[in-house]
Amino acid sequence: MGKVWKIDKPCVDCGVMMYDVYPGKRYCDKCRKERFLKKAEPKPKKLTLQEIMREADKEGLQYASYCKKHGLY
Ligand SMILES: [Zn+2]
Repeated sequence: MGKVWKIDKPCVDCGVMMYDVYPGKRYCDKCRKERFLKKAEPKPKKLTLQEIMREADKEGLQYASYCKKHGLY
């Protein structure tokens, strides 16, 4: 038996049930792909490193977490 704690939960976007997924997972693979494609379309405003650091700080996130959350880099 694995020690990884996984659960069954619905996708927050389309509501399809996801089985045996990490609790942090919010979207099913289909929605994740769609969100990724959607995000890739509009060119995000180019932020300087300092601006990113400031924004990350505002949200109380580590730089790496902020970038991951907003799809930077
Ligand atoms: Zn979904």
